[in-house]
Amino acid sequence: MARKLPVLSDEGITGEGSLGRDGRRRAPYPADVTGRFVWARRIVFAVLLALWAALPWIHIGGHPAVFLDIERRQFFLFGATANAQDTWFLFFCLTGMGFLLIVATALLGRVWCGWACPQTVFLEALFRPIERLINGPRNVALKRKQQGGVDRLWRTIVTQVVYFIVAFIVAHGFLVYFVSVPRLFAMMRGSPGAHPEAFAWAAVMTVLLYGNFAFFREQLCVVICPYGRLQSVLIDDDSLVVGYDERRGEPRARGKKRTADVGDCVDCLRCVVVCPTAIDIREGLQLDCIACTACIDACDEVMDRLGLPRGLVRYDSLRGLRGEKRRIIRPRLFIYSALVTIWVVGATFAFRARTSFEATIIRFPGLPYTLYDDNLQNRFRLRMFNKAGNRQSYVIDPPTSTGLTFDIPITNIELDSLAGLDIPVTVSINDKAFSGDKPFLLHVTASDGQEKHVSATFVGPKR
Ligand code: SF4
Ligand code: SF4
Repeated sequence: MARKLPVLSDEGITGEGSLGRDGRRRAPYPADVTGRFVWARRIVFAVLLALWAALPWIHIGGHPAVFLDIERRQFFLFGATANAQDTWFLFFCLTGMGFLLIVATALLGRVWCGWACPQTVFLEALFRPIERLINGPRNVALKRKQQGGVDRLWRTIVTQVVYFIVAFIVAHGFLVYFVSVPRLFAMMRGSPGAHPEAFAWAAVMTVLLYGNFAFFREQLCVVICPYGRLQSVLIDDDSLVVGYDERRGEPRARGKKRTADVGDCVDCLRCVVVCPTAIDIREGLQLDCIACTACIDACDEVMDRLGLPRGLVRYDSLRGLRGEKRRIIRPRLFIYSALVTIWVVGATFAFRARTSFEATIIRFPGLPYTLYDDNLQNRFRLRMFNKAGNRQSYVIDPPTSTGLTFDIPITNIELDSLAGLDIPVTVSINDKAFSGDKPFLLHVTASDGQEKHVSATFVGPKR
């Protein structure tokens, strides 16, 4: 009995991407697909969304797990605390993430784009399902679009309204990373005029998210994202990509009875209609491919129906797709490993040098010294700042063998996490005993055992 091949009509399906040669957009409406990668991605998306929503609510060491309080210049990251003086911390975090992305791309291709990029996660896990729910699957939605009328109109309006509401919620989900949860709720209850900056941020973010997820979509990956453009230098023949096995699939045999001289591809176009960037994976690795794996599941489904082995479209290296052996160890990995090693050494030194508190001594502005009752005096300000995630106490010990007299009103202090205090320090010596500038060290010990020597110089008239 002749087997019916699952071939689609190619009317309107170009596989040339969502941007036409004239620069106009052909907005894709990808068909639904199910399969092992679809399910795996759904699970990953659900976990990532849950983490994103939960992190500002989970408290570690009395602070949100991730909270970037730009206004107060206080930053909390999984129990670690930092302030404005720790911008080097940001440098190491960003370069660390950059290196991780470079190594991951060399090994696993665009795994970030397909599995973890917020653009993909929010679009595929939130906005695309809304579209499906209201407008139906691809064929139904396209038919409704062609027919137009009241049915099309109300569906479009409802879709856009729901998109806007979801964009509003997502914008506020991002905002709690920068404004604490209780403060955000207080702001939402209050008038926008009482906190215009936060209101403006929320409004701008809502509009941007709505515009991006309702209209712009895959163009962000194809036209704007710099990471996509770097693929040609980051990926080589041994990186894992989503690819089509040309040796097995060609020559294509659309609608033909399967014979020994045809390839396994039946030109059914399923891999093209499920593609969110509307490309044809059979044309080779393309900048528009975000490695979403939809075409793998689509083709596997077709192969199952034809009783052929899965994997005509699969995760493989370009070398593997040519039938050669994939190399894991290769020169570029040595270069990346060397860079990562330099990063690890640099970051280790920087983190080890970081103390849980800041102590700096600053001379009071104005005259460097004064003469008072035969006493020479210098006045300083000791600035203390607790960078630890918990409340700490500090003991300030002035030196004893310098001949200088120290007047410090409080030598035992307690500071909350990320709180600071300025302590006046008056240093004096009898004028007759002063023979020249005297450097000195104040010793500060924290309750967590860390200590610092803060240096300054007592100055007086030239002798
Ligand atoms: S993996 Fe396949 S479906 Fe996904 S973007 Fe690339 S070509 Fe399109
Ligand atoms: S690669 Fe697979 S899904 Fe794509 S046209 Fe060929 S048989 Fe169909």
